[in-house]
Amino acid sequence: MVVDDLLYDDGYLEQNCVAHSNEPVRFYCKDDMSPLCAVCVTEHAAHDFVVADYRAAMFVKQKLIDLLSNLDFKTLEYRIVAR
Ligand SMILES: [Zn+2]
Ligand SMILES: [Zn+2]
Repeated sequence: MVVDDLLYDDGYLEQNCVAHSNEPVRFYCKDDMSPLCAVCVTEHAAHDFVVADYRAAMFVKQKLIDLLSNLDFKTLEYRIVAR
């Protein structure tokens, strides 16, 4: 599920690639259970990997939070109207 893919340890995602010290970690290979940069990922193209860019992940997380709070608000509103 997509939400699970966003819950990897954020600490990983703020680091640079171990093999390429000037490349930020942008992907996470599920097969190898290791963070990957844009260079590394080409060697893992056949593997099951997820986009793990920290800022992209935070953006999507915020979108989900917004969506969930809107849903909660609508549910609350509905309950008030239903009374
Ligand atoms: Zn790399
Ligand atoms: Zn891999």
